Amino acid sequence: MSIDTEIPVDEVTEPWWELTRQRRLAVQRCGVCGLAQLPPRLLCTGCGGDELELGAAGRRGIVDSYTVVHRAPAPDVAVPYTLARVRLVDGPILLTRLVGDFEPRCDQPVVLTWLPLPDGRALPAFTREL
Ligand SMILES: [Zn+2]
Repeated sequence: MSIDTEIPVDEVTEPWWELTRQRRLAVQRCGVCGLAQLPPRLLCTGCGGDELELGAAGRRGIVDSYTVVHRAPAPDVAVPYTLARVRLVDGPILLTRLVGDFEPRCDQPVVLTWLPLPDGRALPAFTREL
């Protein structure tokens, strides 16, 4: 599966997107309070600090909740697909997709995979842990 929709980048998210070219998932960590957050932001959502650094994220997560999307949000998006909130081992919850042939359930362990984008970047997605 690939995603053909163009996904915009800004100065805050650009370093994070660049790491996806090497299929490296990063979380942003606060140097003041230690919070890990995703997506990357200008300020920490925990303390408002701006000492934020990207660091490697673990490849595993847990399905927090999910839904199957049958109605495309844009004409070029293929349906159905499974949209999920996945809690990463590092703490933050990522709004992502579940891919692969399995029936998801809440609290299920899942593992990182990637959906390639046409420009070489990739979207993190999750699949069943084998
Ligand atoms: Zn903080």
